[in-house]
Amino acid sequence: MPELAPNDFDLIIIGAGINGAGIARDAALRGLKVLILDKDDIASGTSSYSTRLIHGGLRYLEHGELGLVRESLREREVLLQIAPHLVRPLPILIPIYSGMKRGRTKIRAGMIAYDLLSLGKSLPQHHVLSTVETLRQMPSLNSEGLLGAAVYYDAQVEFAERLVFENVLSAVENGAKMIAHARVEDFATSDNHLIAATYRLQSGESRRAAARFFVNAAGPWVDGILKRTVSDPNEQLVGGTKGSHIIVAPFVETGSTAIYVEAQTDGRPFFIIPWNGNYLIGTTDIRFDEDPDEARAENWEVDYLLAETNKLFPGANLRRDDILYSYSGVRPLPFTGEHHEAQITRRHFIKPHKHLHNLVSIVGGKLTTYRRLAEECVDLICQRLNHDCGKCRTSDLPLPGALNYESFAREFAKHSEFSLAAKSRLLRIYGSRADDVVEFSRNEGRSDYLDEKQSILAGEIPFSFDKEFAETLTDCLMRRTMIGLNADMGLPQLEIANGIAAKCQNWSDERTAIELEQYRSFIQNRR
Ligand SMILES: Cc1cc2nc3c(=O)[nH]c(=O)nc-3n(C[C@H](O)[C@H](O)[C@H](O)COP(=O)(O)OP(=O)(O)OC[C@H]3O[C@@H](n4cnc5c(N)ncnc54)[C@H](O)[C@@H]3O)c2cc1C
Repeated sequence: MPELAPNDFDLIIIGAGINGAGIARDAALRGLKVLILDKDDIASGTSSYSTRLIHGGLRYLEHGELGLVRESLREREVLLQIAPHLVRPLPILIPIYSGMKRGRTKIRAGMIAYDLLSLGKSLPQHHVLSTVETLRQMPSLNSEGLLGAAVYYDAQVEFAERLVFENVLSAVENGAKMIAHARVEDFATSDNHLIAATYRLQSGESRRAAARFFVNAAGPWVDGILKRTVSDPNEQLVGGTKGSHIIVAPFVETGSTAIYVEAQTDGRPFFIIPWNGNYLIGTTDIRFDEDPDEARAENWEVDYLLAETNKLFPGANLRRDDILYSYSGVRPLPFTGEHHEAQITRRHFIKPHKHLHNLVSIVGGKLTTYRRLAEECVDLICQRLNHDCGKCRTSDLPLPGALNYESFAREFAKHSEFSLAAKSRLLRIYGSRADDVVEFSRNEGRSDYLDEKQSILAGEIPFSFDKEFAETLTDCLMRRTMIGLNADMGLPQLEIANGIAAKCQNWSDERTAIELEQYRSFIQNRR
């Protein structure tokens, strides 16, 4: 193993998605000197484009993946404890219709198995509803052929972007270095080891960083990274599948309950989920071999999701015009050749490389199980580096916004001078760090509101740049303040937010105009 010079790192992680961020946090907490590089922003890849569930994966039971379900349920419980401001329980209703591929008996058996695997967890067990009870709970549901429903619990991470960010923040608080907008382009190797990575900054400047160990956590771009090493150039680790979602304004009254139902066209299960004041509907599952950056919801996917929703809620009459926006992501699943998409395992793999002894690549996995993957990965790195890292602490240590969250939330809701809408929003996004946002805004003289609902503080814009490593307007709106995920995609606040960002970042007029243009073009892709 090469010697470590003073400016070198123990570990370089390529990719600041949920997996890279989780590994960085764990490694930094165990005393390793970590550098994280991302070609774009923190959480700008697949981790922003998921269905946002922290779930055991009821569907994986069908494929006999009991181990994966058990692990996911255990991790669901851990995340409810270490990130209660971001990960919340979600009731899910499965309507049962005559003629469905998965009938009443199969669904009941699945529910019982799920409960057994969840034993000792904090979420309630499932219950069954008769037809009348189902329609009482969801009166707009199609009643034709309805036999009843099952209701079970999983969890939702409304802002997965913030879960990723808080892992990076915790890593940085424990000594890691994060460089975003730094595309890894090349590697130096010696004697079957990687020595250094070369990365290019947005300015065009090229830099080099050396380390003793490297993790390729580039999600669906994993093979692209491998092609730049002297690892086997023909090796294909990832076989991506694309999944699309549409977001529509509330069109039925489901309360806080999500719906999980088999599509009539092809029997694939899909979700209709109350999310961020709207409904998130998805997803599809289609093989995708193109550049993951180019994944978009195609017309037929959108039509499929609309048609299936309209069959379930005949009064909804949803049309394309009703879609607020859509998004698509590519699952970085293990390459399996000809397997049917739904049959490809959602387990994760930490792949060593025969010709490069100090590199591993992360393949597969889910938001739900990132912490466990990170633990396994850092255990392996410590062993390879012959470094006594001690035990993993991430299952007990709350994420930064979760520190004393319950008591903080109670006091903040009672005593803060802000509107109810602002208090609730600040807690949902920043957890107990809401206090830092408020104090920062006050010090900056920016405690005024940005929106008519009086829910967004103007001070959140400079806070995202000053305290949360945002570098562009798109970082700030899409992945820190979450304004870009609102129904209006932040358009009413756009100019003023850009003005505030320009002032606090000293942007030139040219840069200010570019930032605005780049945000507009980013959201155009979601329309
Ligand atoms: C449609 C869909 C629905 C899903 N739903 C769920 C769900 O409900 N629950 C769940 O648990 N999981 C879900 N998943 C799975 C989950 O989202 C992914 O497994 C997970 O986000 C992958 O994270 P990652 O960190 O491996 O990859 P990513 O989030 O893609 O991160 C990889 C990072 O690497 C960076 N990168 C790439 N190339 C370079 C380079 N050359 N230099 C530097 N950086 C680079 C990218 O910019 C990116 O930020 C879903 C996935 C999809 C697509």
